[in-house]
Amino acid sequence: MTLKHDNKARGFDMPERIETLFGLQLREWPLFSENYDHCAETLKEEVELTADMVPCSWRIHKMLLNHRKNSLAANIDSKAIAERKCFLCADNRPEEQDSIRWRDYEILVNPYPIADNHLTIAHTEHTPQRIIGHIRDMAALTRIVPTSCVFYNGPKCGASAPDHMHFQSFAESFSTNIWMSPALLTEIAQTGAAHLYIPTEDNSIFPYFIIDSGKDKDLEAMFNKVYAALPPSEPEPMMNIVMFKNGSKTRTLIVPRKAHRPSFYGDGEGQMLVSPASVEMLGTFVTSRKDDFERLDIPTVERIYREVCLSEEEFENIVEKINEQTTVH
Ligand SMILES: [Zn+2]
Repeated sequence: MTLKHDNKARGFDMPERIETLFGLQLREWPLFSENYDHCAETLKEEVELTADMVPCSWRIHKMLLNHRKNSLAANIDSKAIAERKCFLCADNRPEEQDSIRWRDYEILVNPYPIADNHLTIAHTEHTPQRIIGHIRDMAALTRIVPTSCVFYNGPKCGASAPDHMHFQSFAESFSTNIWMSPALLTEIAQTGAAHLYIPTEDNSIFPYFIIDSGKDKDLEAMFNKVYAALPPSEPEPMMNIVMFKNGSKTRTLIVPRKAHRPSFYGDGEGQMLVSPASVEMLGTFVTSRKDDFERLDIPTVERIYREVCLSEEEFENIVEKINEQTTVH
């Protein structure tokens, strides 16, 4: 296997090279292939919680994946992070793990997959998880994984390696909520080829932004406007981002956040190991314990979104700030 040493990666053959990497890793890495099979089985048992509900166009699912326990239970306080070996650094990866070099990143299979084609795209350097300056990389990634969505979990919004810059991608199958009718979106700003939308009332359980853009430069300019208007937080405004290739355009979902985990997070009595990240913002809740899986119902889901996402009022303040930025005085 020489994929690791091939640094001449050019964009056009990347989808094929990634497919090859995936196939080889499935054959050569027992842990990955076992988890992958388990994931495929679990997807068949996915439960739709909103099956009998019609008030909202969003659909909510839940799934049980035991192999996600370490990720859901990850301690990301700075002391714990400083004391562990970073699993995204090349030196600490399992021997079986191979990679493809792309720009300043390495493309890796995620050995604990949530969905088909689950990849981790890790920066070659051990540099902190920050989105600013990386939006165009993320947009370019949507074109080398054209049947997947690319997502970013902020350092306090689901990333289990907040100290190492990375994206992830997986099959688009979880993303149907994002492809709602344009009539359910309201345009609030435009920068060159980039259009910024918010959902109209009653079609989402939490507030979010969508940017559609045919040009990465304009997408970045619009993203930076949204970023500047988000409630400040350290080390960066809290958010999940999901991007898709949409013909010649890129669709970007930005979900502003205010909490890392719900107040009832934990493994004690009455608590739940749920750690909302991009996948939950797309509408699928990943649990790792049968008890959590069984107890997770729509009121609990609504409570989680209420606690970790913004209220309508908090969101309205961001929209006002964006309007102030884009109004010509
Ligand atoms: Zn690292």
